[in-house]
Amino acid sequence: MTEKKVAVITGASSGIGEATAKLLAENGLIVVLAARREERLKELAEEIKSNGGEALYRVTDVSNHSDVEELIKVAIENFGKVDILINSAGIMAHSPLKNKRISDWDNMIDINLKGTLYGIGAVLPYMNAKKSGHIINISSVAGHYAHAGGAVYSATKWAVRAISESLREEVAKDGSNIRVSVISPGAINTELLSSMTDANLRKNYEEFYENFGIPVERVASVIQQVIDVPADAAWNEIIIRPTKQVQ
Ligand code: NDP
Repeated sequence: MTEKKVAVITGASSGIGEATAKLLAENGLIVVLAARREERLKELAEEIKSNGGEALYRVTDVSNHSDVEELIKVAIENFGKVDILINSAGIMAHSPLKNKRISDWDNMIDINLKGTLYGIGAVLPYMNAKKSGHIINISSVAGHYAHAGGAVYSATKWAVRAISESLREEVAKDGSNIRVSVISPGAINTELLSSMTDANLRKNYEEFYENFGIPVERVASVIQQVIDVPADAAWNEIIIRPTKQVQ
């Protein structure tokens, strides 16, 4: 089995997942990349390999339970273990509740909430077996503060924090060394706003991100630091915001 750490990253085809994959690979980790857009994953895997890193990709829809099980299985088959799972896949389809954009609600619940759960469910048996591992879930500042237009997104991101804390207690009670971390970013310049189907609201958010958004590498470096904490300690909760972002 490889000595190197193996990190499975969902949402690796863009934004936070992509930047984290690049940084982790630069620092000697093996990365297993997952998302729906194959071309993007393929390009990223090739880029990482051409820079001397190790990468594998698997097309995965995190809202599909068996896709996520397969993803973890592929990582285990190729590298014998998964040391780190980063649940970064997500969408932010804001809109006021009165507009009843039910398919947006369903998609956010399926991807942000159920996708994170499926990842945990798929990797936990392997991590439990070796009593170690690290699950890093991406929540949001919106998982700490709710606001008009962001009800369902906030609900999913709040849920990610609730699930993470329950998981942390469960694995600690079992006496295992599995670490659980939640990263809650503020405005980070990624492709996230493309998932917003409400054109008016999206325009407002685009302006906000233009004014306040910070580069995605800021979050990637926080994730690397969270991983680098000595194994007997876990950085459980982090908010990383642009300095000038009010809330
Ligand atoms: P991006 O839109 O750049 O990345 C989102 C990623 O999720 C893409 O790789 C996308 O890939 C993937 N994804 C979406 N749906 C699915 C699905 N069904 N199955 C598998 N992968 C999926 O945005 P970010 O990098 O910003 O988002 C990453 C995480 O960070 C999200 O959870 C988001 O909520 C969170 N976040 C982001 C903030 C920001 O300001 N950017 C602030 C707070 C939290 P593909 O389409 O190829 O499947």
